[in-house]
Amino acid sequence: MLLDLKDAFLNEGVHRLADYKLDLSSVAVDGVNPMPKPVWVRAEAVNTAGVVRLIIKAEFLYSRPCDRCFSPSDRNMSLEFEHNLVTSLSGDSNDDYIEVPDYLLDLDELTTTDILLELPLKYLCSDDCKGLCQNCGANLNDGDCDCDKKTVDSRLEVLKQLLN
Ligand SMILES: [Zn+2]
Ligand SMILES: [Zn+2]
Repeated sequence: MLLDLKDAFLNEGVHRLADYKLDLSSVAVDGVNPMPKPVWVRAEAVNTAGVVRLIIKAEFLYSRPCDRCFSPSDRNMSLEFEHNLVTSLSGDSNDDYIEVPDYLLDLDELTTTDILLELPLKYLCSDDCKGLCQNCGANLNDGDCDCDKKTVDSRLEVLKQLLN
């Protein structure tokens, strides 16, 4: 959505609120669409001494396969972003400020960029995910596979033969 911030820019102390659902179901990350359900966006813009401070809160279900065991895994994400908005940048462009020359901010685009930059590079179903067995491919989170036992058993066999 386009956020009209003219009021907020022209009047110190004015709050401008936006509360809506943003559809990012077609956004692909690493070959999957990890945000199948609408993202709940709440944005608040406040004019403080001529600079409009924008706080964006985004809540959504993040759904994608674990990077270690490849099982589908869902997690509720709650992210918060802050930006300073100005109508014109004085001097050299500054990464700390976003220029909004006509008072109109493309909130969808800004929120989408913020979320994509914040998503975890490595995604695990849990911090102690055991991953897959290198030998048989079994998901070790579901329990040990037979491969481990066989290795232990054969070591015991060797030990037994040595003792005999
Ligand atoms: Zn996992
Ligand atoms: Zn195995």
